Amino acid sequence: MDLSQKPKSLVSGFFRSLLAKPGNLALELGELSLSYEQLWSYAGRVTACLADTLSPAEKVVAVLAHRSVAAYGGILGVLGSGRGYVPLNPKFPLERTLVMLRASGCNTLVVGEECAAMLEALLPRLDKPVTLIVPDGGWEPENGLLSSHRVITSRQLSKIADPREPTVEGDDTAYLLFTSGSTGQPKGVAVSQSNVAAYMEYAAKRFGIHDRDRCSQNFDLTFDLSVHDLFTCWDAGASLCPYSQETLTPASVLDEMGLTIWFSVPSVAMFASRLGLLQPEAFPTLRWSLFCGEALSASLAAAWQRAANNSIVENLYGPTEATIAITRYRWDSAASPAECVRGLVPIGWPFEGQQVCTVDEDFVPVPPGETGELCLAGSQVTRGYLNDPEKTAGSFVRLQHTGEQVWYRTGDLVRQDDRGCLFYLGRRDFQVKVNGYRVELQEIDLVLREAACTELAVAIAWPLSEGSASGVVGVLSGSDPATDAEVIAACKKRLPRYMVPSRIYHFPQIPLNVNGKIDRGRIAEMLARLA
Ligand code: AMP
Repeated sequence: MDLSQKPKSLVSGFFRSLLAKPGNLALELGELSLSYEQLWSYAGRVTACLADTLSPAEKVVAVLAHRSVAAYGGILGVLGSGRGYVPLNPKFPLERTLVMLRASGCNTLVVGEECAAMLEALLPRLDKPVTLIVPDGGWEPENGLLSSHRVITSRQLSKIADPREPTVEGDDTAYLLFTSGSTGQPKGVAVSQSNVAAYMEYAAKRFGIHDRDRCSQNFDLTFDLSVHDLFTCWDAGASLCPYSQETLTPASVLDEMGLTIWFSVPSVAMFASRLGLLQPEAFPTLRWSLFCGEALSASLAAAWQRAANNSIVENLYGPTEATIAITRYRWDSAASPAECVRGLVPIGWPFEGQQVCTVDEDFVPVPPGETGELCLAGSQVTRGYLNDPEKTAGSFVRLQHTGEQVWYRTGDLVRQDDRGCLFYLGRRDFQVKVNGYRVELQEIDLVLREAACTELAVAIAWPLSEGSASGVVGVLSGSDPATDAEVIAACKKRLPRYMVPSRIYHFPQIPLNVNGKIDRGRIAEMLARLA
């Protein structure tokens, strides 16, 4: 393996660390600690199996596993074979997983034994035979379920592939994720090897993670911020420390785990603050405190900085479509409070080599100080949505003044100051963040309407606090309150937990704006009056 070459695939940093420091701890999962060598001896069996059984045309493989060796080893194993991975979340409802699986075109799944129950429910619903790779020893599937599918269990996975840089093209998919879609179907975003290589190169320089670092792993693997967790860590030969599922909040074990790198959505910090965990100097081991995924309030940044007194606090910003994060702002306890707008920390400046442009409704750039929609371009920006030219054309556009350059329209409203610093001001649509998860409220509306058999149903992000939502509620008109529990149960079958309305409100009338559209702002005001 030529280590002097620029990394081409997402797995190459792991291989570099494996060859340089095979005995370093790569993964600390509760009681279980695996060195780079041990993790590869698991992942390399998946790679070998994929290399022997799949046709080169099969470019992506699903990983149905959750915070287990199968999850981390499965992802590495898939990448090691030169393919992209599609993370599936066993906490998601079956219906949604089926939609994602079908859209991805995957014929092969790597499955962790912790997902056996979901797999058994999934298999009878598949419309084609699949290959299941089950690297864990214990799972023995019922034969009846498998008549048309091929299963490769741990007994057949004896060969371990050499940790060899796979041959990939820059355009090949490194990972395929799905985000909430306003028309009711999740949108697939295929992030290419070159998109993510651009991010990794910048992150390596910016954060300077080294092989004694202990990195948090807070994000679900279906959230692209987890890609930062895994690969900036392994790139540096550091130790990845997922928090245990039994933990109330990852921040409560941060000190005990001796983490040096922290990355989470602000909601996790907010929760820690409510639990009284952000005491001054509570997290002395941290070198970096990174936040991304939703607006970061100034008060929270200040409180975290006091708790993580030895760390640099940064607010990162970016959509999945532009690969993990693309702008950054460093918190400065003295200067930053005065720079915050509406109590929110600025999102700052674009990463080196990436471009930002703030435009009006006609896609014309607005001058500094004026509000516009943030558009993004550069090597991190993906090509569009999977099998959806219409949505791609709506969001990946050309701006008059930049010729053939493709820009991703984020839907985020921002203002830029004379220095080029970006300030996040909100959204131009009904996309919201619920505890950091991206949600199109219209996707919930559609499910609610079907569940409640009424057109007069609307989802509202509620309650709100400091610019972010911690839940969703449904507001209905003209339906029977006696069926609320059934409506919520029907939503649970189709939506991930964070999108399911926690409560249904019944209003005599749903307020409309002057254009006759549902006025979510007024509904939120009505909910505030009820609170
Ligand atoms: P996702 O694709 O899930 O990463 O969500 C991307 C969206 O999250 C962005 O378009 C923003 O609306 C929001 N977002 C991400 N980071 C930040 C941030 N630092 N401040 C405000 N909003 C953010």
